[in-house]
Amino acid sequence: MTEVSWKITCDNCGQELQETEEICPNCHSNKKTALLQVREGLHLATSERIKVKNDQYPSNKKLRYDLMQGNVSSKKTDNGRAKIKRIIDKDNDYYYEHVEDCNGTVIHHCEEALSKHFGHGTAKNSNDNSHTPD
Ligand SMILES: [Zn+2]
Repeated sequence: MTEVSWKITCDNCGQELQETEEICPNCHSNKKTALLQVREGLHLATSERIKVKNDQYPSNKKLRYDLMQGNVSSKKTDNGRAKIKRIIDKDNDYYYEHVEDCNGTVIHHCEEALSKHFGHGTAKNSNDNSHTPD
């Protein structure tokens, strides 16, 4: 199940706009910020994912914030399940990743500047381009 919601505001006066409004009815500015929030249930897992996009950035940099948390399958734990929380926050240059098994034993923990994290070898092998730094 996926939920998508938009929040669009005028850059000039802060008025909240409808998706269909190209020009702010309040101040007639055409500059606006659009935040897209996506919540999606991941396959076979009780996870949630929240993505925040900003349309003012070029297409490969629109994704500003990416949160994923919940129960996922993992080969590293005895029962094949793991609890994960991952945050990628480009605006604040922040990366957080925490994985533990069903007993609360920490399997992986990482909290650092996103730009620093991207320098790691593992990120280079990932197909997930949300790691791409600005
Ligand atoms: Zn306005």
